[in-house]
Amino acid sequence: MSLVVQKYGGTSVGDAGRISNVARRVVETRKAGNDVVVVVSAMGQTTDELIELATQVSSRPTGREMDMLLTAGERISMALLAMAIRDLGVEAASLTGSQAGILTDSTHGGARITAIKGDRVRQYLDDGLVVIVAGFQGVDPASRDVTTLGRGGSDATAVALAATLRADVCEIFTDVDGVYTADPRLVADAYKLDEVSYEDMLELAGAGAGVLMARSVEFARRFGIPVHVRSSFHDGPGTWIKEEVMEEAVVTGVAHDTTEAKVTVHGVPDQPGIAAKLFGALAADGVIVDMIVQNVSTAGHTDISFTVPDEHLEKAQSAAEAVLPELQANGIDVEANIAKVSLVGTGMRNHPGVAADMFAVLAANGINISMISTSAVRISCVIDAARCTEAVQALHAHYLEKEPV
Ligand code: ADP
Ligand code: ASP
Ligand code: MG
Repeated sequence: MSLVVQKYGGTSVGDAGRISNVARRVVETRKAGNDVVVVVSAMGQTTDELIELATQVSSRPTGREMDMLLTAGERISMALLAMAIRDLGVEAASLTGSQAGILTDSTHGGARITAIKGDRVRQYLDDGLVVIVAGFQGVDPASRDVTTLGRGGSDATAVALAATLRADVCEIFTDVDGVYTADPRLVADAYKLDEVSYEDMLELAGAGAGVLMARSVEFARRFGIPVHVRSSFHDGPGTWIKEEVMEEAVVTGVAHDTTEAKVTVHGVPDQPGIAAKLFGALAADGVIVDMIVQNVSTAGHTDISFTVPDEHLEKAQSAAEAVLPELQANGIDVEANIAKVSLVGTGMRNHPGVAADMFAVLAANGINISMISTSAVRISCVIDAARCTEAVQALHAHYLEKEPV
């Protein structure tokens, strides 16, 4: 008998009819002789709606209360799915993250899983039940408060549970057929990849390919869990995420991210210790920094630009402003309307010239690059958000267009 962990995303459990469909799929998997653990997201846009509701009653809700609120979304779908499965004649029980023993640190809104006890899940499985676990949530054992794992966190719940329970496979059911060469919402010609290595998927997810949360891929790689990303609407095969893939393309995919903002600190002295002070202050306030560019020095002064998640912009701005006098800087500039477009491919490692070529494609389309960062297997450029779709389409056409057959 195999143990299968299945995760269903928000659209897949978006209404009563879809929950009934999911129940049927789960029951089929169970009746085929598998033990099944199901992780669910909140229905449809519930999480966004709850966030919006919070902003209507409070200008500064605390992390604790936000997490209390948001965890309710997954609690609704888990109970409904358990009911629907029972109606099909299969025993099922739902558990919140806390009841399932998902322990996290204390970072409300972006908690990291520190351990999964899982004994209650195992007990239910031994009793022959299908176990439904609420995604995206856990509990901080120190404060005993519930926490959430960050947007898209149900993917992390699913893979972490699969690792703890030593599942044979973790299936991520979503509203697309698998992992595509670019977001199919932006690029009509994007196509599904049959398999993607953990390394490429980690880079794609980190660069904004929202089909999987990056941290879920980290877990999968660390514990060697094969992940199958597939459609919840039909039975066809999706994309396998695993260690080794048959062919390593130079460029596996194009990713984009419009959820970051750029901050520039102007006119800081070009001296040792300045960057340490600035980024030390940001780190102390829990600001996540992605790209960093320090410009050339003119007359002993330089500009430092960096990007942060949109939701950290306010924190970043006040932390940077607080150290401005100490840095002897001239001022701060903020640009919210930016996009990061990235090319990802493990094959780039042995292939010179990809960066130059990417810049040429953007230039040919008259798209200005304001920041660049690279790793051995990724090249990212920050551009104006208004040109994002065009840039992704042009890069996809250049690197990934299929030859007509
Ligand atoms: P779920 O609610 O199932 O977790 P998400 O909305 O989080 O679904 O992720 C699925 C979405 O990810 C797709 O609808 C698609 O628009 C987007 N996406 C972004 N990049 C990619 C990609 N490279 N391949 C497939 N989907 C992608
Ligand atoms: N409901 C959460 C979100 O919308 C978690 C998830 O869907 O994975 O981000
Ligand atoms: Mg998701």
